[in-house]
Amino acid sequence: MKTETLGEVSEKDLVEVTREIGREIREFAKKISEILNVRIEKVLDALNLARAAEIIDIKIENDEIIGVRARVPSESKPGQYYYVTVGYYGYKCNCEAAMYRGRICKHVLAVLMLWNVINVFKTGKALDVCKIRWLHERDQSEKESEGEL
Ligand SMILES: [Zn+2]
Repeated sequence: MKTETLGEVSEKDLVEVTREIGREIREFAKKISEILNVRIEKVLDALNLARAAEIIDIKIENDEIIGVRARVPSESKPGQYYYVTVGYYGYKCNCEAAMYRGRICKHVLAVLMLWNVINVFKTGKALDVCKIRWLHERDQSEKESEGEL
């Protein structure tokens, strides 16, 4: 393998690889928007919120990322963080929307997007939404309030 020169060929490879990463993230975002019946803008907000998140733990089992734990800053209360766990087994957030109303809140959505981004980097593929059972078990169609989508 000759890879020591960053010539035209490897530049093309780089473009192709990064394009694939972008496509996997985009397709996953669209699927989540459809499954949860939320507008793509909300998913985009969650992606932005994910950038402010701090990863606490990445759970790996049999070389597969099965979940992510992170803290996400509150958007309305400066200095406050919500602690979020998202994985195949379920989701948890200590904000009101998730704790008392059992909703998939924007913090959970943010860490879900983060989990997917990590997965795309590690495997080249987006998470399989069919394997995330809890996504399909929730009815999100209610009025919005603090923390909710
Ligand atoms: Zn929350």
